[in-house]
Amino acid sequence: MVPSFDLKGKVAAVSGGSRGIGLAMAQALAEAGADIASLQRDDRQSSVKDDIERIGRRCEAIPCDLEKPDQVKAAIPEVVKRFGQLDILVNNAGIQRRSPAIDFAESHWDEVIQVNLRMVWLLCQQAGRFMVPRKHGKVINLASLLSFQGGLNVPAYAASKGAVAQLTKALSNEWAGQGVNVNAIAPGYIATDMNTALIDDPVRSRQILERIPAGRWGAPEDFKGAVVFLASDASNYVNGHVLTVDGGWMGR
Ligand code: NDP
Repeated sequence: MVPSFDLKGKVAAVSGGSRGIGLAMAQALAEAGADIASLQRDDRQSSVKDDIERIGRRCEAIPCDLEKPDQVKAAIPEVVKRFGQLDILVNNAGIQRRSPAIDFAESHWDEVIQVNLRMVWLLCQQAGRFMVPRKHGKVINLASLLSFQGGLNVPAYAASKGAVAQLTKALSNEWAGQGVNVNAIAPGYIATDMNTALIDDPVRSRQILERIPAGRWGAPEDFKGAVVFLASDASNYVNGHVLTVDGGWMGR
């Protein structure tokens, strides 16, 4: 039997579903049958709720500004309260700050570590407290090529994403035997708002493109298959893995 990719009856909490990769992944999970709890800042406009409902699934916005720890700590219990369950957590939201290391602002360091790492940890912990006793769940973190490489002018981001990969493995080691899969997706260079500065720089943009064996930047839709795979029974024996979706970049 081919294992099932069907997510009907599942509830997925997705952070950063307002745009970019997160929006495409929320749509994919809904297309596979899941209802979506969109962990998002409450003052932002986004098409996510309309998009998910158009697919025929339920979507509710859960207040979860990653710069507000109290909101983050309350987010997973709120998902469970409203939906009655939590099967999948996608820690997708993330930020980037660029500057040479010697000029890198301390406030930018704190901001990036807070959003990309500390809050990812808190959401994982909250989800684990619900999933582990039930021996069932899928946690998917967004890592990066900078989980493996150092990048240029992005020291806080590289540090945060290196740590996300290690956190994924650390949690997987504890929870794999408890029926909870913890894995990560490492995007390559994807044409989203996060990369406007790179896309607008003709030299960097050309250098990056030349190194991508697939010959193009990635698009948010390139993540639909990977997230459904890691959220479904098809990946039940995949644990602590960091799955690159990068058009072949890491193979160069
Ligand atoms: P975008 O910049 O397009 O979107 C970022 C998302 O994160 C938005 O939904 C944004 O919400 C949310 N977010 C940012 N700050 C907060 C906050 N304080 N509280 C709640 N939500 C917040 O990013 P991408 O789609 O490009 O990236 C998604 C993930 O993939 C990130 O973790 C990123 O690091 C990772 N990644 C991306 C790569 C790329 O090339 N694009 C490469 C490697 C990794 P809002 O609309 O409210 O701002």
